[in-house]
Amino acid sequence: MSTRAYSAHRTAWSPLTLPAPDHAFVHARGEAFESSDPATGEVVAVVTASRTADVDAAVTAARAARGGIWRDDGALRGKVLWRYAEALRENSDRLAELLTREQGKRLFEARGEIAGAAEMVEFYAGQARALYGRSIALKPGVHGVVLREPVGVVAVITPWNWPITLLVRALAPALAAGNAVVAKPASLTPAITVEALALLAADPDLPEGVLGCVLGSGAEVGHALVSHPGVEMIAFTGESETGIDVMKHGAERLKKVSLELGGKSPNIVFADADLDKALAGAENAAFFSGGQICTAGSRLLVESPVAEDFVERLGERVAAMRVGDGLDPETDVAPVVSSSQRHRILEYVELSSREGRIVARGEPPAGEPYELGCYVPPTVVADLPSDSRLIREEIFGPLLTVQEFADEEEAVALANATEYGLAAGLWTSDLNRAWRVGRGLEAGTVWINTYHHFYPETEVGGFKRSGVGRQQGLVGLEEFSETKHLNFDSNPTLW
Ligand code: NAD
Repeated sequence: MSTRAYSAHRTAWSPLTLPAPDHAFVHARGEAFESSDPATGEVVAVVTASRTADVDAAVTAARAARGGIWRDDGALRGKVLWRYAEALRENSDRLAELLTREQGKRLFEARGEIAGAAEMVEFYAGQARALYGRSIALKPGVHGVVLREPVGVVAVITPWNWPITLLVRALAPALAAGNAVVAKPASLTPAITVEALALLAADPDLPEGVLGCVLGSGAEVGHALVSHPGVEMIAFTGESETGIDVMKHGAERLKKVSLELGGKSPNIVFADADLDKALAGAENAAFFSGGQICTAGSRLLVESPVAEDFVERLGERVAAMRVGDGLDPETDVAPVVSSSQRHRILEYVELSSREGRIVARGEPPAGEPYELGCYVPPTVVADLPSDSRLIREEIFGPLLTVQEFADEEEAVALANATEYGLAAGLWTSDLNRAWRVGRGLEAGTVWINTYHHFYPETEVGGFKRSGVGRQQGLVGLEEFSETKHLNFDSNPTLW
């Protein structure tokens, strides 16, 4: 790989200091920590962390704001959310650059993330005005009115990989349903989260305390938030093990918990598929966002008659992928988020050569400017034992395993041979097979002849170790509400 003009895409960066004086919604008076650019190691932001007292202050402010006009005025909530979507779009260029600098992803993905977030907020801006309950005539003179009410104070805890998508996916329905929210971003992506939330906090019609934010590590700040008696619901997105811990602590006070967790998703290619499309689809499923996406199609299953040729062609594509800076428009695979994540993934790559056959490997970018970057070339590995850790564990990086299958039954068995159940893909030209296999897969989302497309209208969530509950869609709104039955009796009798 030739050395590219690295600096051509980069302008000088002055680190942000956060929270800024006008970020009153951020409760943080602790020690400073830094977020850094995965491409260069440069400091992106110097951020003040929250202490336990700050978590308490954020929750107390949220409790004071719950109920009141925010609960009772759906039109107001809709208006505030709609304006927030507009503000995200107006600030898209600035936010996308910050997202790429802090998280590493390609700039075009970052732009897509901000645009997708705006769409999600728009969807729930409309739903804020349609939080209908029900009514029923129960007996002569007796009526039941079932209201939908907010849960109260919701803690929204998010990971670093899609920090704005995953934030608004919980924030927007929680606010649309009339809750107050305290957000806690991953400590690798605090600046992009604070800057995105600041656009909402600036709305003059958002009642004080309805939006709060705390910053810092999961072990301290996240734990303090989850355990706080004033938090009534936890919407958590992150690793399955962390989710289990969050659920345990939530259970101590019987909090409502929504968990969006890890994945190890199969992508199945049948011999009757349009193989050119399946090839591009397999590359996208595994290597989009450098594989740092919970739904990554990180296990490719190919039907035997076409497997050898398909994998060879895929290998050629992968070897040609350009690994580089996310700000460089020619980059196919951007750096992973941190040096510890790079180190972790490279250990799996090392295991690949011991346990299987490396079919293809991209090349790391060469030259001095790349030396401090967290680059991991894409890798495809085949001929692994079926109990290999590479097939079982979520790697969360650009590493794809390949397995062959003989028939439909074996494809479904291999696909479901995982503790996870977040997503799956299947490629076939046979509609009946698509139906049969789609029904057989244990996954919250099954893409047929496509991959990695998400819509605000449709739910996401996991079977098995991939989660509890669903987000997005109308169900995603209901998750952030409780029902209350008001019973009216015009002539009460005692039994
Ligand atoms: P993580 O579990 O380490 O952290 C997620 C968030 O939880 C962070 O904000 C972190 O600070 C916080 N946290 C950590 N320990 C905590 C604790 N004890 N109590 C409360 N909060 C705590 O996950 P990550 O490394 O940031 O993200 C990658 C993981 O997220 C992967 O497993 C990925 O599959 C998963 N993920 C799932 C989805 C989904 O929709 N299912 C989406 C994106 C990412």
